[in-house]
Amino acid sequence: MSLSQIARSIKPSPTLALNEKAAILREKGDPVIHLGGGEPKSRAPMDALLAAVNSLNTGEIRYAPADGTPDLKKAIIRYTEEFYHKKVNPENVIASGGAKQAIMVAMQSILNPQEEIIYPAPYWVSYPDMAKLCGAIGVAALPEDGTFYPRLRDIEQRVGSYTRAVIINSPNNPSGAMYSEEFIADIVEYCEKKDLYLIMDDIYHRLIFDGRKHLSAYDYTKKSIENSKIIIINGVSKQYAMTGFRIGWAVGNKKIIEAMGNIQGHQTSGPSVLLQKAAVGALNGIQSGVESLRLTLENNRNVMIEQLRSFSGVKVSVPDGTFYCFADFSAYEKDSQKLSRFLIDKVMVLTVPGKEFGCDGFLRISYCGSIKDITDGIERMKWALDPNSPNELYIGDRKLVRDWS
Ligand code: PMP
Repeated sequence: MSLSQIARSIKPSPTLALNEKAAILREKGDPVIHLGGGEPKSRAPMDALLAAVNSLNTGEIRYAPADGTPDLKKAIIRYTEEFYHKKVNPENVIASGGAKQAIMVAMQSILNPQEEIIYPAPYWVSYPDMAKLCGAIGVAALPEDGTFYPRLRDIEQRVGSYTRAVIINSPNNPSGAMYSEEFIADIVEYCEKKDLYLIMDDIYHRLIFDGRKHLSAYDYTKKSIENSKIIIINGVSKQYAMTGFRIGWAVGNKKIIEAMGNIQGHQTSGPSVLLQKAAVGALNGIQSGVESLRLTLENNRNVMIEQLRSFSGVKVSVPDGTFYCFADFSAYEKDSQKLSRFLIDKVMVLTVPGKEFGCDGFLRISYCGSIKDITDGIERMKWALDPNSPNELYIGDRKLVRDWS
């Protein structure tokens, strides 16, 4: 069967594949611990659920404008004012099927085939494939100093005549690093100087720890929204634990938002009106759930770091936000895909290989689950990797025996 070049060049999403793997193992009755997940386990806010139920009860769920319903746009405008200190109009906003689609249509609106978009490494798994879907090229910029915190020169070095955009994700999936104010100010100024689009993927911006404050890229520009090439991406998935609702959005100048709306209009139309109602409920409703999720994640992070620090051979830096930890396991195994497979096969712990994020030798370990999952999961990993471990490990009444060295 012949497939297009694009179809042949796209890999399945490794994180979605892991979710499927976890589900299959669980169905078989295996005591899997999923430390590879990317979604909070709390309930969606009541205001979101009620808004959706009320809408459903009307029995009239129809087509809506392809770039989002007026009430969702209104809620996003208010959100942008509160968190980004920027007054925008409905023409500056598009609601999409998750932040994922918002990023995708943004790239499709900016990139021609062969053109380039730069992002710091480690990077979110989807960026390279999204660039490929545009026939364009994703260029990873690994910080030269070996940290997870890029400096302007790391990006600058990769900018050439084909560069059209930079995408910044802070706090970052997978490292949890929140980039410095200096870096955000520098990158805004630099992109303006070079006339590049700057996409800010802020999907984790309210899940930050240790008293940090969210940074708005708009605070570092003097340009009006219509003259600015900054595109802000956000959504309800992470902060409101509403991953399955698939509502995200973008804020930008009228021209780019119109182009994104045109593309989305032919791709999927707007996201489901029912789910847009739920997003409005979440955005306009009681916000205490976000803070309680943030506190839970901060505590989970502390537990995970403590556990990992007792693990000789693992190097770990403390995440500033998100619900991921990106730890260096290269002392045990340099091939992260092999290591991740080994941990599934031997101790039924799911992690995501660092290679998927542009850093082999690392594993992404999530702390969005329970404390028990974190402590038991790391315990199992330790047992599997430490050559001085006892020969046997009991998981419930199941006995695991080391048949490897
Ligand atoms: N950006 C980043 C960095 C993410 O981690 C994710 C979700 N894993 C997304 C965007 C997409 O989120 P959504 O569920 O809103 O599509």
